[in-house]
Amino acid sequence: MRVNVSEIIKTEGAGIDINLVDDLPEIREYNTSVEFKPSFKFTGRIVNLGGLLKLSGELHYEFIAKCLRCLKSLDMTEDIEVIESFVEVSKSDDVDAYTFEGNVVDIDKPLIDNIILAMPMKIVCSEDCKGLCRTCGTNLNIKSCKCDEREIVDPRMEILKDYFK
Ligand SMILES: [Zn+2]
Ligand SMILES: [Zn+2]
Repeated sequence: MRVNVSEIIKTEGAGIDINLVDDLPEIREYNTSVEFKPSFKFTGRIVNLGGLLKLSGELHYEFIAKCLRCLKSLDMTEDIEVIESFVEVSKSDDVDAYTFEGNVVDIDKPLIDNIILAMPMKIVCSEDCKGLCRTCGTNLNIKSCKCDEREIVDPRMEILKDYFK
């Protein structure tokens, strides 16, 4: 997503509204564990604050993730707040901000950084998801299996086993 800031670049305090829907293809290089849908929507504003361009707004995006426990596909929708600053590349030495050149600000990098930061550490279909049986792969949310019963050996049965040898 590129924003032409020529209207505000010379006027302190000036701002422009941003309302963009676009893909952020590079996000797929950073996160391969989920499947991002190609329409990212950013609604916000860029304001010229004494040479710094301040970007603020809300980013809406959707992706498909798999439940960590049962592997069910989940449709995820996120809305995150983004607040970042840009500085002209020649003035960027001591400033902690994203850079831009000329009259165009490319907001992809900060948007991608914010998405990565906002990514949940674990995605589950429900906090109570029982997951898949490690032995037979049965989805334990749908039905149960006998694997656990077989593994637990009653100590009294062990003694009997020796007795019959
Ligand atoms: Zn699950
Ligand atoms: Zn099982």
